[in-house]
Amino acid sequence: MMKFRNFKMVSYVVYGRGSFHQLDEILEPQRRGESPMIFLVDHFFQHKPLADRIPLRGKDKIIFADVNQEPKTKQVDQLAAQIKEEFGAISGVIGIGGGSVMDLAKAVSLMMNNPGSSADYQGWDLVKNPGVYKAGIPTLSGTGAEVSRTTVLTGPTRKLGMNSDFTPFDQIVLDPELTAGAPVNQRFYTGMDCYIHCIESLTGTFLNEFSKSYGEKALSLCQEVFLGEETWGPLHDDRLMMASYAGGMSIAYSQVGVAHAVSYGLGYLLGTKHGVGNCIVFDKLEAYYPQGVKEFKKMVEKNRIDIPQHITRGLSDEQFDTMINVSLGMKPLWENALGPDWEKQMTREKLRALYERL
Ligand code: NAD
Ligand code: ZN
Repeated sequence: MMKFRNFKMVSYVVYGRGSFHQLDEILEPQRRGESPMIFLVDHFFQHKPLADRIPLRGKDKIIFADVNQEPKTKQVDQLAAQIKEEFGAISGVIGIGGGSVMDLAKAVSLMMNNPGSSADYQGWDLVKNPGVYKAGIPTLSGTGAEVSRTTVLTGPTRKLGMNSDFTPFDQIVLDPELTAGAPVNQRFYTGMDCYIHCIESLTGTFLNEFSKSYGEKALSLCQEVFLGEETWGPLHDDRLMMASYAGGMSIAYSQVGVAHAVSYGLGYLLGTKHGVGNCIVFDKLEAYYPQGVKEFKKMVEKNRIDIPQHITRGLSDEQFDTMINVSLGMKPLWENALGPDWEKQMTREKLRALYERL
């Protein structure tokens, strides 16, 4: 008998321009006596008006998270240790930022109640205990980290998420106003993460009607946002935020594919960030996603974005091998993209040739 995935979703969702104003009221019933809420906030917002709008009560604390590099298991462990030492028990962790900060918040919440290092839980369903209450508030749209059951971390031996039923947020606050100031390139790279989720989900072998329904809606929102005629405005932010949500819901039942599997290798070896890394790879995947790549190139041109080229030039055999190993380790992604006999189709030589083109 086929075994159907029974997945955990985010418990509460509020969507709307200005919904961030409701945060205090939303957190109120989640407060446990004197135990504080910890607000993990993207360092971009230090000394910005948003930081002053965070509803601090009692011993609540804001920790600005440096996301120049994507989250690491070491960073998660340090944050969890720091919070435990300073406060003992806390009421919850609120992540305010892009995918990096949302992932950090999820991971720190889990590590408040699970022993050892977050590196011990990189994989599928290894987390033992629920974390503390956690809420996610995106300030960039596209990753789907607000709805996913994973938190992507770079650890000592791999770049892999803590995938578990304990990982999704208890609450998300989707306020498109918070994304208004994002720089054009960053907004595009992260937005394309969503576009690529849609293409990889919709063309994948794991696709079912559930995934398709969300994936198609997210795709058409991305097309309106990145190929529409108007200059960027509030409606674009509103739509892209819903595209990110729906794109994330689409992969809950399916998986991502070739671009992500290859991009993880770049991220692991070179520290290439997820959004731009996916763009660098997707740009060269015409053999796997002909329609999607064609449309992607149109979006790049219309939005006047530079996609970095030749980033693997001059790497050693050993470095290529590292990327190939990381990439081929992403088995479910390859299986979704190419089917159960993917190992026959995607050989090390073929993957090396692809990496050399990036
Ligand atoms: P990000 O969170 O890494 O942020 C990118 C940059 O944008 C940072 O410099 C940040 O400070 C800045 N920034 C964020 N919001 C801003 C705003 N409103 N205005 C100006 N600058 C702003 O970028 P991202 O693309 O959202 O997230 C990428 C991360 O998400 C990666 O670590 C990736 O692994 C992870 N990810 C997770 C999932 C998941 O399901 N958990 C899915 C996809 C990606
Ligand atoms: Zn992605």
